[in-house]
Amino acid sequence: HCQYHKPARLDSFKKLSNVDIEHFKSIVPAETVLATAAVGGTADAIELEGFNADWLNKYRGNSQLVLKPKTTKEVSEILKYCNEQRIAVVPQGGNTGLVGGSVPVHDEVVLSLRNMNRVRSYDEVSGVLVCDAGCVLEELDNYVAERGHIMPLDLGAKGSCHIGGNVATNAGGIRFLRYGSLHGSVLGLEVVLPDGTILDNLSTLRKDNTGYDLKQLFIGSEGTLGVITGVSVLTPRRPSAVNVAVLGVPSYENVQQAFKRARQRCGEILSAYEFWDSNCMRAVLHHQSLKSPLEAEYPFYVLVETSGSEKNHDDEKLTALLEELLEEGIVEDGALAQDDTQISRMWMMREGIPESLGKTGPTYKYDVSIPIPVLYDVVKDIAQRLEKVDLYKPGQSSGPVKLVCGYGHIGDSNLHLNVVAEKFEDRVTDVFEPYVYEWVASHRGSISAEHGVGLMKRDYLGYSKSPEMISYMKRIKDVFDPHHILNPYKVV
Ligand code: FAD
Repeated sequence: HCQYHKPARLDSFKKLSNVDIEHFKSIVPAETVLATAAVGGTADAIELEGFNADWLNKYRGNSQLVLKPKTTKEVSEILKYCNEQRIAVVPQGGNTGLVGGSVPVHDEVVLSLRNMNRVRSYDEVSGVLVCDAGCVLEELDNYVAERGHIMPLDLGAKGSCHIGGNVATNAGGIRFLRYGSLHGSVLGLEVVLPDGTILDNLSTLRKDNTGYDLKQLFIGSEGTLGVITGVSVLTPRRPSAVNVAVLGVPSYENVQQAFKRARQRCGEILSAYEFWDSNCMRAVLHHQSLKSPLEAEYPFYVLVETSGSEKNHDDEKLTALLEELLEEGIVEDGALAQDDTQISRMWMMREGIPESLGKTGPTYKYDVSIPIPVLYDVVKDIAQRLEKVDLYKPGQSSGPVKLVCGYGHIGDSNLHLNVVAEKFEDRVTDVFEPYVYEWVASHRGSISAEHGVGLMKRDYLGYSKSPEMISYMKRIKDVFDPHHILNPYKVV
């Protein structure tokens, strides 16, 4: 585990006792209360491990109580009691968040939404899905696929993350280029506030200009304003023709050129444009049972996806694009998937990067938005800084830093800069924190493109937001959560 800066526990929060546990058992069925002996329960601490540790194995809390309510009313009663008693709470979805937001810092109660996983309704005409917040994204995508539709977002963690967690983090992912942000596709939310109030804004309307659009505040609020219990989301028609190609590209300049061409030639059917560098590729090929579709190694790789409704028309367009890119030397090689298996293998290559880096070693992750022309410069810059202080030798897989690499959703100006180390240690962290945030701020980028702020970036918010904006964020927090019981120590 990383020696990350852990804010001190606030004394104003109550320490749990068996009186509290008994009270929770009067609200939710006893089998949904997971309490350790330390607070008068019978669960083994090991049973709480999965709720206390995050996906990166970087952040760890010490919660002694996990509650897994099944209904909105139960969530409401839990929060009301916690608010009155000043018991701190961490809302938790699939626990795939990457900024330390989903696990407790100290002994906060974990409120897991995993038992709230029902589809509430689906309108086959409008494509509006209304469901519980704890539904797993992939399961929802399968559900709407059977009805000819597609979830407007997709990400590598789809098999575990919840739609509620996606909304709470305003997740982006690989369909963002085509379907845009959750700020557009979420039509309504049901949210429970700390005092137990249920804000029922589960609208299925695309148009509703009656006053302030409160749901937008909860999209990306990372569990600090309320607990999302229900989501209404617009699902587009599932494209009937999908094509994928992987390209081998000689330079970052050419990655940009190819993007411009892809938009020119395939604009209306372009649905993803992802890139990764050779270090990512080596890690993926080493850790996943995959073979590169290209013969040689290249400095950069691009995955282009088109989604449309006319297979022949789309095939022609993508083939013409590939031919043009190859003829002009913008790309050096390209492989077009011939069937669904090849499509999913190509996607596994891109989506397998985070896991493969994690298997290589403890990984520092920076999810940033930077103008596309300079986006990759930060990867080179950080590598050079580490080389200069003898912490990194490119090409050698041992040493305090094993790998510096970049990949991401280039179509959205979103880079994932990753530094894979031998272990998390201050002498490594100090080389690029806060330097990387200064770098991003100097280009007017965002220090958190799609992963959120959580605990990891809360002290760095000032690099992307002005003091006035942060002050208003704090005032909004005070309005919804005056006792700051929800996800304390995080975001603001
Ligand atoms: P959690 O991790 O459980 O929680 C995340 C935050 O939301 C926490 O602050 C938590 O308190 C809060 N929260 C969760 N549920 C609720 C709720 N019901 N009400 C209120 N607050 C809640 N992210 C992207 O944006 N794009 C990607 O492409 C992407 N790829 C990823 C790939 C991998 C392999 C992994 C591990 C993660 C990836 N992520 C990505 C990050 C992560 O998956 C997303 O942030 C996801 O949306 C988190 O959902 P979750 O259900 O796991 O939430």
